[in-house]
Amino acid sequence: MKHRNSEERIKDFFEVALGVTEEEAIAEAKRCLDCKNPLCVAGCPVAIDIPAFISLIKESRFSEALVKIKEKNALPAICGRVCPQESQCEAVCILGKKKTPINIGALERYAADYGLANEPKASSAPSIKFGVSAAKVAVVGSGPAGLTLSCELAKMGYCVTLFESLHLAGGVLAYGIPEFRLPKSIVNSEVDYIKSLGVELKTNVLVGKTLTIAEIFKLGFAAIFIGTGAGLPRFLGIPGENLSGVYSANEFLTRVNLMKAYKFPEYVTPVNIGKRVAVIGGGNVAFDCARCAIRLGSQVNLIYRRTEAQMPARDEEIQNAKEEGLEFNLLTQPIKILADSQGKITGLECIKMRLGDADSSGRRRPIPIEDSTFVFDVDTVIVAVGQGPNPLLINATPELETTAKGTICVDDHFQTSIPGVFAGGDIITGADTVISAMGAGKKAAHEIDLYIKSKIKK
Ligand code: FAD
Ligand code: SF4
Repeated sequence: MKHRNSEERIKDFFEVALGVTEEEAIAEAKRCLDCKNPLCVAGCPVAIDIPAFISLIKESRFSEALVKIKEKNALPAICGRVCPQESQCEAVCILGKKKTPINIGALERYAADYGLANEPKASSAPSIKFGVSAAKVAVVGSGPAGLTLSCELAKMGYCVTLFESLHLAGGVLAYGIPEFRLPKSIVNSEVDYIKSLGVELKTNVLVGKTLTIAEIFKLGFAAIFIGTGAGLPRFLGIPGENLSGVYSANEFLTRVNLMKAYKFPEYVTPVNIGKRVAVIGGGNVAFDCARCAIRLGSQVNLIYRRTEAQMPARDEEIQNAKEEGLEFNLLTQPIKILADSQGKITGLECIKMRLGDADSSGRRRPIPIEDSTFVFDVDTVIVAVGQGPNPLLINATPELETTAKGTICVDDHFQTSIPGVFAGGDIITGADTVISAMGAGKKAAHEIDLYIKSKIKK
């Protein structure tokens, strides 16, 4: 897939990856072997019939290809852009054994974008509810888990109300992943599609504060799904982390993406960022922060305590960031953020690391090298070392059982310790991926359907 030239793209927030042309999509689709036992389908957490939609693209039947994808995936334009296909469906594509696997993500994006450009916009007319399926289901959190579950239940005929604490839907897709990787117009279009199925979206409702779980049941909801994600930033616990000029990745990305700080003063939320920025971390979140900071005009150093091969970020994002001039400082661990007498950041003290034996994650553990400390000359530090589960709803609902990591415990049916309350996505797994949250939303929708039907029978 072609990308915009790096010198040009670092000056704005427009999308970097350009997608494929019709000719390229058809040529790529023609490479598919249409395997009798297609491994790619099992490699997709929402089990899209991949060979079937690829066959339709081969025959230029793009609208039908999109219908085929939407049978299983309500967010195809999003998944075609940010899903880590290289470690999911494409990783098991039979062609990958000898040659390059089919670029399934690019084809999914092509069909989805074709639909957005050529088909009428989804209208928000509520669908007609009838019979047992007219039962009401409440969904808390409008990230990929909540959106997918809402879509599935609405298609089954349930009355779904989606409660979201922010002023707009999408979860990380809206506030975290930057415009240049996932345009917000794409997120809005796919949210509109879900609303067009009759899902009622109620924004600015912080469940646990505005409304409790018990109160939701009192409003006549037969079941509740919690998909509140992992939006609580983690910190390193080093001296200086409370200084002004230190951002959590969440705050930085929310300001830049959701509040459009890069368009300040047209949009009212500013972001105060210096000339020399250190971003700490090696995942997708760290790379998103670094690439936003580059676009805001800063010189950016990425600090990561392991090696590039051990970085959890997608290879494509690592490559993009290199092209955009991000400086990599690997096997480097921050130990202190330094400031002058006014509290203004003057540097980041680090120590060099080497790799030791494997730790519990199976990755070789980084070990500090004695007498190897040094200082980076920076004025802003962005900490992107992971996120934990959002605790507010959990704290307000003590009957909910949680793990030591603060995630919500569920049984094999996605049901929590409160009967009729289900959960899925990052709130049960910890920070994961869009498609795994969607997979959980899909499975939990099926379990909620069974649960409500079993109650009605009694
Ligand atoms: P979320 O997307 O976190 O959504 C939870 C929603 O619940 C939010 O809208 C939140 O406001 C709302 N909420 C929370 N508490 C309450 C409450 N009490 N009441 C009402 N609403 C509430 N994954 C990929 O596959 N590819 C990527 O490229 C990728 N890049 C990422 C980049 C960043 C910056 C981040 C942070 C994550 C990235 N991920 C990526 C991970 C992926 O986005 C998440 O795994 C996924 O969004 C989890 O979905 P979710 O529905 O569980 O939760
Ligand atoms: Fe096509 Fe690869 Fe799936 Fe086989 S595994 S059907 S070649 S995409």
